[in-house]
Amino acid sequence: MATETPMLDELEKGRWPSYVKELKESGYEGLVKLYELEFQEKKTHWIHGGIVSIPGYDAGVIGRLSDRHDLVKDSHTLRVLPCPGWCYNTKIWRKIADLWEKHGSGLVNLTGSTADIQLVGTTTDKLVPVFEGLYEIGLDIGGSGPALRTTSACVGPARCEWALYDTLDLQADLFNTYIDEMHRPRWPYKWKWKLAGCPNDCVASIARADMPIIGTWRDEIQIDQEMVKEYVKAGLDINQVIAKCPTGCISWDGKELTIDNEHCVRCMRCINAMPKALKPGKKRGATIMLGA
Ligand code: SF4
Ligand code: SF4
Repeated sequence: MATETPMLDELEKGRWPSYVKELKESGYEGLVKLYELEFQEKKTHWIHGGIVSIPGYDAGVIGRLSDRHDLVKDSHTLRVLPCPGWCYNTKIWRKIADLWEKHGSGLVNLTGSTADIQLVGTTTDKLVPVFEGLYEIGLDIGGSGPALRTTSACVGPARCEWALYDTLDLQADLFNTYIDEMHRPRWPYKWKWKLAGCPNDCVASIARADMPIIGTWRDEIQIDQEMVKEYVKAGLDINQVIAKCPTGCISWDGKELTIDNEHCVRCMRCINAMPKALKPGKKRGATIMLGA
């Protein structure tokens, strides 16, 4: 049977979750129609309409205005500062969901790299009521535009044994110290910090931040030789581990694993392969890097 949205319907097929399905369920009918139209015409109907913001803030709202007011006039996204470690209780989430269903689409994006909670889809007249509601819950707006963007941090010591410094503590400190720079864009361009507790870099700071702050260690990798042997006995191809060391500073003589720590670049590949046998050194801290 023919539907009004044949092209969007294609994006609902398959076994994976569909954002189109979520969009349709939100009841945001005009937006769904506009989206279908864009696929049909192969062009966007979103236009640059200047800054949309909450009075006194200037950041935190990603404004979207359309040239098809008959379908949908505007559909903005709000960025909300996250809790370090993304540790929330259900009480908070019920309040956020109620607020956003009352004043917005009800759609929330938690998977972006901005670190923020993203409330997706509301109109200009609802921005202040949403902001007031967030304030009552105890939440604040995140960064956007040419400002300090919301600092992102990995879960660090809250949940990860590899955290080499307290990413959450630093994230909270940076929020509290530089909140003005996040809320009031006054720079020529955006600036991003991302905090990774170790070189595994789960927040992709190397790729996405102007200033990655990555946990590292100064001294020698801790080796448990007996556990190395256990790994080998259990079938680990230790020659592969050695081959993947970017500086070729590991060797194995069949009885003992040796690391030339002078040439180790702290990439963690060997540690990830044998986490029970190898651990970062004991003198731990962070490397501050500049430039994406
Ligand atoms: S970056 Fe390192 S410390 Fe942070 S969550 Fe990933 S593995 Fe753990
Ligand atoms: S951490 Fe990386 S550079 Fe250092 S020994 Fe292991 S694989 Fe090699």
